[in-house]
Amino acid sequence: SAKEGGRNRYQFYSEDMTVRAIERLSLEHDLRGAAQRGEIFMVYQPQIELATNRIIGAEVLMRWRHPTQGLIAPARFIPIAEDSGLILVIGEWILVEACRQAQQWRDRGLLDASVSVNVSAIQFRQNDFVRVVERAINLSGISPDCLELELTESVVMQGIDSTEQKLQELDALGVKVAIDDFGTGYSSLSYLQQFTVDRLKIDQSFVRDLPGNIDAAAIATAIVAMGLSLGLRIIAEGVETEAQAEFLQSVLCKEGQGYLYARPMEADEFEAWVAAWEQQVKNKS
Ligand code: C2E
Ligand code: MG
Ligand code: MG
Ligand code: MG
Repeated sequence: SAKEGGRNRYQFYSEDMTVRAIERLSLEHDLRGAAQRGEIFMVYQPQIELATNRIIGAEVLMRWRHPTQGLIAPARFIPIAEDSGLILVIGEWILVEACRQAQQWRDRGLLDASVSVNVSAIQFRQNDFVRVVERAINLSGISPDCLELELTESVVMQGIDSTEQKLQELDALGVKVAIDDFGTGYSSLSYLQQFTVDRLKIDQSFVRDLPGNIDAAAIATAIVAMGLSLGLRIIAEGVETEAQAEFLQSVLCKEGQGYLYARPMEADEFEAWVAAWEQQVKNKS
């Protein structure tokens, strides 16, 4: 009967949900101590000045190599890290390591560029977040303006007063702030003007359909024009084709990041890529 069917369906969903809850709990369990065991590591993706092809920065992205499940994407484990509070420990570790790596590259004369670190809402909302950032800077000896923090629109627009105060403290520290995935959330233009942010990252969902899609082209063009008029730097993420890079340049977006240049790479691979890339840029100019 229909009723029985309904009950079976209910049981099916319920079991399914239980399985997922158990999976999640077990991942959360595994995530504890994952950084100390060396399972969490960082990959680096270059940021490029479109007109010159110079490397102007590197975004740090987190990876988890699970002992039995293999590589787990951030989209799967970061929400678990956030819900469990583990993101605080892992996030601080990433900040310290990213600054240390950037300073080491600078000391070795390998790379004169900034590093961008993603910061989750839970981290940013911490009372002592600015102290955490300051500690990472002091431990590494990095120049503060070589560190950029990437915050999403929703993080910035949540709790406006405390956001503004933290952004001012970060600015006083000399650290840069970028708004990640720009265009996917809703930020108020007046706050954008009021907040001390340095850069907008055009979300890859708009870049993907460039240059052919009229709507994507209109949105990308508008974001650049608005950002420039507010005195912000603009970088496009998810640049995969020359046609996209050319379109972006034509609407005065000067910076890009994406598979067209390189995928995110582990430190040693990134170093080799940088050396080869710079040789190529030199040969062309
Ligand atoms: P995001 O910060 O917007 O990072 C950009 C994502 O796009 C990365 O995915 C990157 O690998 C991917 N990507 C780069 N170039 C291209 C391209 O040309 N085409 C396409 N299709 N994708 C490209 P990933 O590494 O899987 O990271 C996903 C998200 O996870 C990040 O989005 C960020 O929100 C979060 N995340 C990553 N690492 C961290 C971290 O250390 N801390 C925190 N809080 N979040 C992180
Ligand atoms: Mg990012
Ligand atoms: Mg992004
Ligand atoms: Mg994203």
